[in-house]
Amino acid sequence: MKMYETTQSVERYLNVELECSCGRTHYAPIKAVNIGKGAINSLPDYMARFGYQKPYILCDPVTYRVAGEKCEALLREAGYAPQVLVIRHLGFDEATLGEIVIHKPEDCDVMIGCGTGSITDMLRYSSFKLKLPCFTVCTGAPMDGFAASVGIMNVDNLKATMPAHNTELIIGDTDILAGAPWRMTLAGFGDLIGKLSSLQDWRVAALVNGDHYCRQIDRLVTDYVEDIMARTGSLKARQPEALGAVLNGLLLTGTVISLYGSSRPISGAEHHMSHYWEVLGDQRGKDYAMHGEQVAVGTVLALMMAEELLSAQVDFAAARRDAAAYDPQTWEAEIRRAYGSAAGAILELEEEAGKNRPEGRLRRIDRIEAHWDEIRALLEKGYPSGDLRQMLKDLGCPSDPKDIGLTEEILKDSFRYCKETRARYTVYQMIWDLGLTEALSDRVMEKLKRLGAL
Ligand SMILES: [Zn+2]
Ligand SMILES: [Zn+2]
Repeated sequence: MKMYETTQSVERYLNVELECSCGRTHYAPIKAVNIGKGAINSLPDYMARFGYQKPYILCDPVTYRVAGEKCEALLREAGYAPQVLVIRHLGFDEATLGEIVIHKPEDCDVMIGCGTGSITDMLRYSSFKLKLPCFTVCTGAPMDGFAASVGIMNVDNLKATMPAHNTELIIGDTDILAGAPWRMTLAGFGDLIGKLSSLQDWRVAALVNGDHYCRQIDRLVTDYVEDIMARTGSLKARQPEALGAVLNGLLLTGTVISLYGSSRPISGAEHHMSHYWEVLGDQRGKDYAMHGEQVAVGTVLALMMAEELLSAQVDFAAARRDAAAYDPQTWEAEIRRAYGSAAGAILELEEEAGKNRPEGRLRRIDRIEAHWDEIRALLEKGYPSGDLRQMLKDLGCPSDPKDIGLTEEILKDSFRYCKETRARYTVYQMIWDLGLTEALSDRVMEKLKRLGAL
């Protein structure tokens, strides 16, 4: 089939090969999504439709009460004999995986996970290892991982992204979502509006770094983000349609990872900031807020940096001198300081990607200069950081570094080094290419202090 020219509902992108004018065929292997009031009641129908007989339900004590119990009852009524595991090892690590395997019935043919991040990640990973299909029943919408093909779990006490598979079905019952903590929904909103900066990064990367770009996917994500931003009034009133729209948007952006083949369109500088804060949080035994909340703050900051770039004096000759004078030893010492015990992985990544090496940087400076007018026009269309900040404040979502416990020192290092967490071109890498990181981040930090945000 041909890729749609106009934006469609999430369901229409699932389990169908879409030939696109961008030259790629887009495909998302998820079979069905059902979001709406009472959606959980459709679970037995999907069991019948997909031909499964022996469900194995995973939940924790909370999600059992919220959704697991209901799934169990619905399946029993429909004549199935589900086995339920209320997980007791809640570290979402080797012990959790062991518990899941130990209690798995021999004849089970589908696994059903009820929960949000940790449980559904563990579901996709464990079912993948056990070579079983899986279904997801969402109990909240705090992030866009439900539609992912990977699973995040703790391995040897470190958060690891493990190869897994997509869930076949995602159910989001808006009655259940309405009962989820409000903070969780706001975090989901934060992860969604993060696309304001990730899309901008992607467009810049296509011009400067030659990243594959797809106009239709850009349009699709943009439409969903604009839709949710137009609904902040009903979201604030916690109306079920708005809660459903948040989950819908998160499923769509998650599906885009499969459609595009990586998270490039939906994860940029704002996510690099979140990854960096998570690394620091783990090392310092501190919790710098939920993922989606971090993304919300990171998005405001990324948009502010882009705005500063627009008003900066760009000196391409100075940028070239800066690139030629790059000293990997100084950089390495700084990474060791900023990343502590996580520095090894960052150094390895740079060894492989070489994104800071002078040759590549000089090439990119040439391209930035050649496309400078286009890049400026693109950044000028960016969503104003001040408006976004106000929108987040109105909703009660963190918007400022201060809201999530970040100090001045952490923030400065975030502007300098968060880009090192992934080999992905963003506005931060472009600002670094131009030798403007110090100057622009100083200006943003001064502005944040004036606003009382830092
Ligand atoms: Zn395409
Ligand atoms: Zn995210």
